[in-house]
Amino acid sequence: MKRINVTQSSLPSYEKYIEKIKTLWSTKHLTNMGTFHMELEKGLKEYLETPFISLYSNGHIALEYALEVLGKKGEVITTPFTFVSTTNAIVRTGNIPIFCDIKETDYTIDETKIESLITDKTIAILPVHVYGNVCNVEEIERIAKKYNLKVIYDAAHAFGVKYKNKGIATYGDISMFSFHATKVFHTGEGGALTYNDSSLKTRLESLKNFGIVSQEEVDYIGGNAKVDEFRAAMGLCNLEIVSDEIKKRKKVFERYEKNLRGIKGIRLNFKQEDVIQNYAYFPVLFDSYKLTRDQVFNLLKENEIYARKYFYPLTSDFNAYKIGFKISDTLVASKITNNILCLPMYADLELDNVDRVCKIIKEGR
Ligand SMILES: *Cc1c(COP(=O)(O)O)cnc(C)c1O
Repeated sequence: MKRINVTQSSLPSYEKYIEKIKTLWSTKHLTNMGTFHMELEKGLKEYLETPFISLYSNGHIALEYALEVLGKKGEVITTPFTFVSTTNAIVRTGNIPIFCDIKETDYTIDETKIESLITDKTIAILPVHVYGNVCNVEEIERIAKKYNLKVIYDAAHAFGVKYKNKGIATYGDISMFSFHATKVFHTGEGGALTYNDSSLKTRLESLKNFGIVSQEEVDYIGGNAKVDEFRAAMGLCNLEIVSDEIKKRKKVFERYEKNLRGIKGIRLNFKQEDVIQNYAYFPVLFDSYKLTRDQVFNLLKENEIYARKYFYPLTSDFNAYKIGFKISDTLVASKITNNILCLPMYADLELDNVDRVCKIIKEGR
């Protein structure tokens, strides 16, 4: 039997990409916001429906820059049920993560628990659109306004997601998208920030280019997180196919649902109202099922099927966070992290293989 991994990167045809990058051999312009970079920026701005976008070499560094432009340091309210990058970005920019619990329904931040965590040191809320599930953006905005806080969304999972007919990038002060090879849309490595405030543009752009604002002026202490033309070209090719890739993902998603819906002890991802999904992941919660999450994980592995305990453990449980951080109880997050499993999910996953994965889970052997 063929090995099945939890994910597999989408790629344009080989010929298409080669054709695209061919011009680089005549222009010899390989980086520093070249033609492909500018084209990709424009294309993504439209696709994500955002007035402003800045591209970066990865999503993580983009998140660090987003926190840096807030211009102050303090406590940032976030959740531990995320990829470690979210929490690392908070700490690496000199801030303190304050962990808020998540909801049983869609695994996003529990907005009813945010206010009690706000202190005079709080500067921002950093929720995650986990699995492309949309946070309660309205309530989060209300709280942020009331306490004069900024909202930065980790939208790494949410490329192409729409809420109430608007791109997810519309919500919050800044959103971070990851274009890592495992994401719905990718440039190999890559990422972006989207935002609504034009005054952030100069700083966010220059931070990825050493803080340079013009040939003889450096106004900020920036790093280097530019996107070269090879990656931008990959992005342009992938942007052409991403809508079709999402449609293919939808078929895989629906096949899983058909197989697994209504089985006692198996909880599928909650369908949200007014949300157009991107089918990025297929998380399954084993809640008093005949097998535990770990048993299902191992059973699949014996069959050369590699699911992923995503997210496990909570970021607050990593060694790096065990010392020196005030960890509040996030009981729901603890329960979810111990029982959730992301099944293989990618555009080209054969439906026969979806059936095979489900059969193993259902038969328990
Ligand atoms: C992928 C991911 C990141 C980091 O993005 P990179 O582009 O890999 O740096 C951050 N947060 C979440 C939730 C992610 O899934």
